[in-house]
Order: sequence, then structure tokens, then C-alpha cells
Amino acid sequence: MRDDKHKAKMASKKAVMDAKIASATEERGVLILLKGNGKGKSSSAFGTMARSAGHGKRCAVIQFIKGRTETGEYKFFKDHALIDWHVMGHGFTWETQDKQLDILAAEKAWALAASLLKTSHYDLLIFDELSYMFKYEYLPVEPVISALTKRPRDQNVIITGRTMAVELQGIADTISVVHDERHAFRQGVKAQEGIEY
Ligand code: ATP
Ligand code: MG
Repeated sequence: MRDDKHKAKMASKKAVMDAKIASATEERGVLILLKGNGKGKSSSAFGTMARSAGHGKRCAVIQFIKGRTETGEYKFFKDHALIDWHVMGHGFTWETQDKQLDILAAEKAWALAASLLKTSHYDLLIFDELSYMFKYEYLPVEPVISALTKRPRDQNVIITGRTMAVELQGIADTISVVHDERHAFRQGVKAQEGIEY
């Protein structure tokens, strides 16, 4: 493409982008859902947390399902002055195989989450794997929707999980689906420290 043609094309693109930017004027927190079967949901949420904390914003993480091991992100962020990290839950549901125990853990984690949604202390809350609590019917969805809609206006919330309750999708501002096109695990590659956890 000739230089002058490229310049004209970019100028018209800029006009369209400027108009879009000018029309997005509302300032408020958003609810972001990161779902799908592909790899990259939790790591995206924690990437956004690094972005927020980098700007001096206060963040909290609640992990509704505790994995097998301490993750690299937990070790990296847990002592950060702006970040409070809570590992709740007590294991993968297929490992504990005790529904009543899972429900108790879910209720405890949700009680903490609900209290964080009531204070404007935090700019960003991450509820990692919250969506499983509805899938396995450990928590009713209505109180969660109610607490999310009543949260402080400027508070941002990110929820991750492979599947999302439709009610959550109904109130979300941003929904991203991480599509599983290929994963090394299926080619026999073992989970790696620093990549998987
Ligand atoms: P990550 O924490 O890497 O961003 P995720 O949050 O998108 O992954 P989860 O469903 O929470 O994915 O699964 C967590 C663990 O399972 C991670 O160790 C991740 O690498 C791995 N994983 C994610 N997707 C897949 C997949 N499609 N097949 C196999 N393992 C996966
Ligand atoms: Mg995850």
C-alpha cells in the first residue's frame, strides 16, 4: 500500500476510535467473567491484579478451591502490601469426595467474599473458581447476585471458572471465553511449576 493511502486509512480509523473513546464516559467498577475450557483464566485475573496493584490499588483474592500445592502467584503476591490473599476451600471436590465438607468450606469462603463486597476498601476483588460453587450446588446463586449488584460503585470484580451460572452472565459487564484449542497435557506433558501452578 502506498504511504498516502495508508495515511488516509489510518486517519479514518483514528476518527472512528476517537468517537468510540469519546462516547465511553461512565466511570465505575466492572464485573468481569473469565470462563471456558482453555488455559489462561486465573493467570489473566492475576495479571490484571498486578496491573491494579502497580497503580497503587488495593486488591483481594479469594480462592474458592484450594489446589494441591502453593502456587507461584500466591508466593509472589501474598506479602504485597496492597494485596490480601485468602486460600479457602480445602481441595478438589473429586479428591475430598465429601459434599457436606465442601459445602461448609464454600459457605465460609462466601461469607468472607460477601464481607469484602460490602467495603469500599478494595478496588479489585478476584473470586477464583467461584463459579464451581453453583455448578456443584454448594452455594445458592441469588445471594451472590444480590451482593455483587449492591457492591460499592467503583469496585471491580473478576470471577473465574470453566462454566458460569447464567445469572452471573446476566449482570456481568465483560465476559471473556478462553477457548481450549490445544493443551500440552493431552500430548502427555506433565504440569510444570511456574506454568501450571
Ligand atoms: P491458568 O491458571 O493457567 O490460567 P485456568 O485458570 O484457565 O489456568 P483452570 O481450569 O483453573 O484453568 O485449571 C487450572 C490448572 O489446569 C492449571 O494448572 C492449568 O494449566 C491447567 N489447565 C487449564 N486448562 C487446561 C486444559 N484444557 N487441559 C489441561 N489442563 C488445563
Ligand atoms: Mg483457574
